[in-house]
Amino acid sequence: MPHYHALALFSGGLDSILATRLIMAQGLRVLGIHFVSPFFGKPQAVESWQRDYGVEVQAFAIGQAFVDMLARRPPHGIGKALNPCVDCKILMLRQARELLPRFGAQFLVSGEVLGQRPMSQREDTLNTIRNAAGVRDLLLRPLCAQHLPPTPMETSGLVDRQRLGAMHGRGRKAQLALAQSLGITRIPAQGGGCRLTERESARRYWPLLHLFPPRAEDFSLANIGRQLWHGRRWLVIARNNHDNARLEALRQPEDLLLRLTHLPGPLGLIRPHPGAEPWDADALRQAAATLAHFAPKARARGTAVSITVETAFHQTTVDVLPACRFDAPPSWEDVRTAKAAWMAEATTATASPPEGPLW
Ligand code: SF4
Repeated sequence: MPHYHALALFSGGLDSILATRLIMAQGLRVLGIHFVSPFFGKPQAVESWQRDYGVEVQAFAIGQAFVDMLARRPPHGIGKALNPCVDCKILMLRQARELLPRFGAQFLVSGEVLGQRPMSQREDTLNTIRNAAGVRDLLLRPLCAQHLPPTPMETSGLVDRQRLGAMHGRGRKAQLALAQSLGITRIPAQGGGCRLTERESARRYWPLLHLFPPRAEDFSLANIGRQLWHGRRWLVIARNNHDNARLEALRQPEDLLLRLTHLPGPLGLIRPHPGAEPWDADALRQAAATLAHFAPKARARGTAVSITVETAFHQTTVDVLPACRFDAPPSWEDVRTAKAAWMAEATTATASPPEGPLW
């Protein structure tokens, strides 16, 4: 196992690339840590980052720890959609700190820029993140280091403070100039890396935060196709062939797969959960009718169609008329209202889901 001087939080965004390269430019060996969850992460890009930016990167799963944090109501709040940015940073730094011994590394690097974001990159918030993550003497923020007190890495001489950045504020001019001076020509697009910042994704995730014990694999399934609910019964219907392939890939032994018996069309996936209403024969018929409703070739027939229901051990067939019997997830307005009430209860929060109306 190669040893590194530092581990860098590496999202693949420009700031993370620059922070990593700025430390590497001092002759130190840095490994980029790319965290992956149902909400963010591009493990398939690791090779291209290595090629394009000359940075060694390894991907690490953080999904279940992240989902647990989110379900417990993030103590530092949630942003405009469902993004708990401050607690996200704290979690990532904690997890990266745990990895230090494995790579023989002495400190952590992250690409924050003071004042770049109104909430999560204010100086007091940067201090909160550093302290709550337990990385007070371990964390270096190379892009804005000259605005921050010297770290032990600088005072010890391991890192030359004079060669670190003094970036501040929202503009990208300084980043682009630094990229040019480091010979970086492929500039990644801004934003768009985290589904938790999107209202449409928040609508998909909201029922899962409340109905079942939080599991990362459920949030991965919530990213796919049409999300449909009937009480606590959850049905996912693909929108296209790509979704069909993803549903089959994410299928678990307890899931039920629905497909049109004699026609091409979308797959449906039922994920039963303990505590949800049982998937009895009538409920399966309702789900099958809903799948047929979203299959244009089945609707065009105007007659009953056959749907095959597969479990891990056997399969059955039901004949149904197309009809949508399930509901869409709550609207963004309903999620926003429910989120505010949920977070307001945070002072007395426990990990248990709330009782009563869900949205
Ligand atoms: S946008 Fe998403 S990945 Fe980025 S800090 Fe916020 S929660 Fe974390």
